Amino acid sequence: MLLDMHDQAGAGEPDNFQRLWTPHRMAYIKGENKPTGSGPEDGCPFDAIPKMSDEDGLVVARGEVVYAVLNLYPYNSGHLMVVPYRHVSDYDELDGAELCELGEFTQRSVRALRAASGAQGFNVGMNLGHVAGAGIAAHLHQHIVPRWGGDTNFMPVVAQTKVLPQLLRDTRQLLADTWR
Ligand SMILES: [Zn+2]
Repeated sequence: MLLDMHDQAGAGEPDNFQRLWTPHRMAYIKGENKPTGSGPEDGCPFDAIPKMSDEDGLVVARGEVVYAVLNLYPYNSGHLMVVPYRHVSDYDELDGAELCELGEFTQRSVRALRAASGAQGFNVGMNLGHVAGAGIAAHLHQHIVPRWGGDTNFMPVVAQTKVLPQLLRDTRQLLADTWR
């Protein structure tokens, strides 16, 4: 099952975040729009998201060359991704500005999540290529997954296809406010 935030009082001011992720709100619906696109012509979701409103796209922050967005299929509550606007698959293809802002946005994601949720640790990284586990290998993205002690009831893989849109919208608003 999902996180029981009441068992995971951490540092910081997690109250708002805990309210958002209280288990009674975890009435999941079945996700039906899991992105499978492999290129701009194939409906790559990471190219479509920046064209949406922040609310609809779950965008937390927009930079010059990268943006931060909530994962619609989170591994854990508050799972963020930092994504270059440019459709590139390999870390080796990033230019200097993209490398720089990707790093900056990763740091700001950690800060925002720590401040908003009292996260005690993070898994940060990229899966490059299908063989490495990338869901959308054609467009690289950095994962920032907050962790709390006791969250061994980690969201099961099957739950990746189930989301609660309103919960994600509320979380996006909180993180966007915290980011600023
Ligand atoms: Zn793309």
